[in-house]
Amino acid sequence: MSQKLEKLIDKKGLRLDGRKLDELRSIKIEVGALSNADGSAYIQQGKNKILAAVYGPKELHPKHLALPDRMVLRCRYHMAPFSVQERKSPAPSRREIELSKVIREALEPSIFIEYYPRTSIDLFIEVLQADGGTRCASITAASLALADAGIPMRDLVASCAAGKVDDTIVLDLMDTEDKVGTADVPVALMPNLNAITLLQMDGILTLEEFEKAVNLALEGCRKIYTMQKETLKAKYIGVKEVEE
Ligand code: UDP
Repeated sequence: MSQKLEKLIDKKGLRLDGRKLDELRSIKIEVGALSNADGSAYIQQGKNKILAAVYGPKELHPKHLALPDRMVLRCRYHMAPFSVQERKSPAPSRREIELSKVIREALEPSIFIEYYPRTSIDLFIEVLQADGGTRCASITAASLALADAGIPMRDLVASCAAGKVDDTIVLDLMDTEDKVGTADVPVALMPNLNAITLLQMDGILTLEEFEKAVNLALEGCRKIYTMQKETLKAKYIGVKEVEE
């Protein structure tokens, strides 16, 4: 978050990319984008382009990390060197290590981890192009990749952020809004269980602004959830029709 450089919302209440305050970026999701992973998904959210791939459940190596009563979810969030304007080192940064943990913790409550003792699920997230809100888009895609791998889940996890730009609470910040704006609140939700699995805040908000941002982000999550379900149904209903 830096000082204000430009006006982010015009007189008509439209944002730099023409969106209304409560409008998501355009989202395109594909399930099963990679044939060699056990499950996968690809998401485009605005200019973000992210792949998620899942392997498992499988025997955990090294074995001493295995847990007797549950499966271990391992997650690696990685940004390609060409995914941002200034070349990023391919080595894992502190930010990527933190986001890997945050994403794992947002997804873990949705999985019946107790069904698969001594095993692991490995989740790989590759950000090919980044434009703000990649942790949320990664969670949305990764949850679909887990479902695509046939892993028993309590619910899908849908994720999106809201934040404050030009003293206004808006939905789904893109990179410029994230950097020039003053706050960002990423949220992840299991909509069917009405359970929040991620809630962060970067910047400063009043209590009322925080509540407004969380509620707006939750609304965004519910819209994304509808898209997730439609994408899954489109793939698997299609498979059934071909088999019959
Ligand atoms: N970003 C960048 N270089 C980096 C890391 C991030 O340009 O090394 C940009 C990228 O567009 C990212 C945005 O900054 O989406 C916001 O990053 P943040 O850490 O807030 O996570 P995100 O909003 O992507 O979940």
